[in-house]
Amino acid sequence: MIHINNLSYRYTGGTLALDSVNMSINKGEFVALIGKNGCGKTTLVRHLNALLIPTDGSVSVFGMDTKDTPKVWNIRQAVGMVFQNPQNQFVGTTLEEDVAFGPENLALPQNEIRKRVDMALREVGLLEYKTRAPKTLSGGQMQRAAIAGVLAMEPECIVFDEVTSMLDPESRKMILDTIRQLHHNGKTIIYVTQRIGEILPFAGRIISMDNGRIEFMGTPREYLASVKSHVPAITSLMRKLKAKGFDVRDDVFAVDDAFLEITKACMKGYEEERNTDNG
Ligand code: ADP
Repeated sequence: MIHINNLSYRYTGGTLALDSVNMSINKGEFVALIGKNGCGKTTLVRHLNALLIPTDGSVSVFGMDTKDTPKVWNIRQAVGMVFQNPQNQFVGTTLEEDVAFGPENLALPQNEIRKRVDMALREVGLLEYKTRAPKTLSGGQMQRAAIAGVLAMEPECIVFDEVTSMLDPESRKMILDTIRQLHHNGKTIIYVTQRIGEILPFAGRIISMDNGRIEFMGTPREYLASVKSHVPAITSLMRKLKAKGFDVRDDVFAVDDAFLEITKACMKGYEEERNTDNG
């Protein structure tokens, strides 16, 4: 559904930010795009809804080439984008007005707009806040409101570009829960982050970038097997336990799995102690 062919991008008078990138994203996937600050993640995802146009190569979204100017609005409707700073994304004086902005631009009938606004606000858990001014919301609520604004356009695919980086852990968890639910309901998700740990348990595929190029593409487990450093804190802990002689798997990255592994190791240790005592 999204095809990126030999995509290169150079900022005017500046860096080659993307260097011959090739990838495809299928309908219904949950892809995490990871990599250090400045490696080209934002530049790449901005190509997916024609905010940037390739210097070289091409990007095709549902068969529409992003260079094809008359298609840009259809492309932006198909691929929604949520950014790091929700404050910069608000246009309405109330939440419902704000979320209605996109569908209004599609010139939809009023009752359809109202239906979409309620659906989108309900989906992010903010329906009861609909008459509030966006600026009175907390950081996490603002980010969920920004997601509602995108949902009201009914996109096939949503790109989240470092949307949790300014949030406290609790809000971060709520946003991630919302995104998982959207994926569960059939949306294609592209999630950009520098925090590998937060996304490994949820993503179906990891794409890692370095210096404008793709350096790895594969499942979370394959990703962990391929890296020595920059592993999630949980994996790092399990590796340390294993190095100390505990019988645990060191390729887990979800807290629940780590909990099970540690519980099993403790039970085994307990059994061994008991056998020694009895013997
Ligand atoms: P990431 O999202 O992984 O942090 P970016 O896509 O923002 O990376 O940046 C990739 C490279 O492009 C960096 O070297 C960055 O300095 C450069 N860059 C980003 N935005 C601009 C811009 N507007 N003008 C010039 N260079 C830019």
